[in-house]
Amino acid sequence: MKEQRSLSSQIRIPDQAQSIITLLESAGFFAYAVGGCVRDSLLGREPLDWDVATSARPEQTMRALAGLRVIETGLRHGTVTALAGGLAVEVTSFRLDGGYSDHRRPDAVIFTDDLCADLSRRDFTVNAMAWHPARGLCDPFGGAEDLQARRLRCVGDPARRLEEDALRILRAMRFASVLGFTIEARTAEAVLQYRERLRHVAAERIREELLKLSCGENVRRVLEDYRAVILTVLPPLVSLEPAVVEAIAPDPALRLAALCHAAGEDVAREVTARLRCSRAFTERVALAVRLCSLRLNEIPPGQKRTVRLRRLLGEYGEAALLDGLALTRAAAGTGREACDALQAEVRAIAGQGLCVTRKQLAVNGNDLAALGLKGPALGHTLDRLLEEVLEGRVENTKEALLAATPPLKGL
Ligand code: ATP
Ligand code: MG
Repeated sequence: MKEQRSLSSQIRIPDQAQSIITLLESAGFFAYAVGGCVRDSLLGREPLDWDVATSARPEQTMRALAGLRVIETGLRHGTVTALAGGLAVEVTSFRLDGGYSDHRRPDAVIFTDDLCADLSRRDFTVNAMAWHPARGLCDPFGGAEDLQARRLRCVGDPARRLEEDALRILRAMRFASVLGFTIEARTAEAVLQYRERLRHVAAERIREELLKLSCGENVRRVLEDYRAVILTVLPPLVSLEPAVVEAIAPDPALRLAALCHAAGEDVAREVTARLRCSRAFTERVALAVRLCSLRLNEIPPGQKRTVRLRRLLGEYGEAALLDGLALTRAAAGTGREACDALQAEVRAIAGQGLCVTRKQLAVNGNDLAALGLKGPALGHTLDRLLEEVLEGRVENTKEALLAATPPLKGL
């Protein structure tokens, strides 16, 4: 009990979330902070968001919070979002989930007055704790002990819990990766055993968990230990090189690119299509994989390489080229210094504003039109002048470029 009190004192609830609890309790209901915010606070991490669970039914919550802006986020599931002082707090009525006939969504939810019953439907013990500013921690499943042991364990029978909602399989891996926890043996066994059930889960939900998992500190070990699960949600050609994924910055697009780089751009595009990624995200991933496959790190430094980098900079832009080089570096294993030098060179070229595209030439279409050029010939001439500049044979000044423009026949 003493330990629980000292644990609870680590929790700093934002005023807005506190005021929501106070409003609900002055209306005669119970209300607690629950789930991820309690877990993260006890770990000394800043919670991303605050969730409140209450004995009030959704209509009663709406009435009790009438003074705030309240959005009916998921009334059927008992959730409303209260906006207080710039913070969005999800307020969910204590509930039980009915059966899961489709392994993903509960068929019905049943409201209850019992906090423990609500906690029992939650996925992992570390996510099944509630905290109250005066009453302290409510931890019926040993979540605090598991936090201390850095262990992820299902509430109840792991096989049943992962079978009824297969998304929990990826959530287990995500928390193991992000928090650096070990998945307890029976839960780990169920993660592997029920992986095929992930085929019933919506692509968007898989994407969300997979990208968070990819950005975790402990991603390498999770990919090594649960390779079979990843291969259930991604095309089998994906090569999965955990060391390469770990070696790149924890940015979702870069980590996904690292996950599928060795299989090439087509497979990378298949992955993003399967995960229903946005167009911009897909392009970022695919171009990083394409540029990595050019093995720019194998070109020795010198004029030839500089020209190549200028050309690529013109074609893809600085951000994409740097992504590609970051991936090249992660995939290079040893020999990363060569990649560092490449990145530095690209930044220098971009920083100096050197001419790498037609638009940056000191002459434009009008200048050439004044010489009598038109149509395709004008475009070709601009391309050739850009080549001359990229190769360093002609300076990017109007004078030099006009002097280098081939004379027109018949003039
Ligand atoms: P974070 O917000 O940091 O990603 P979280 O634990 O808060 O992590 P949410 O998806 O916000 O995750 O869910 C809030 C809480 O709802 C969880 O802590 C857990 O108690 C419960 N929960 C979420 N998804 C499930 C699920 N699929 N099955 C059972 N309980 C779940
Ligand atoms: Mg959350």
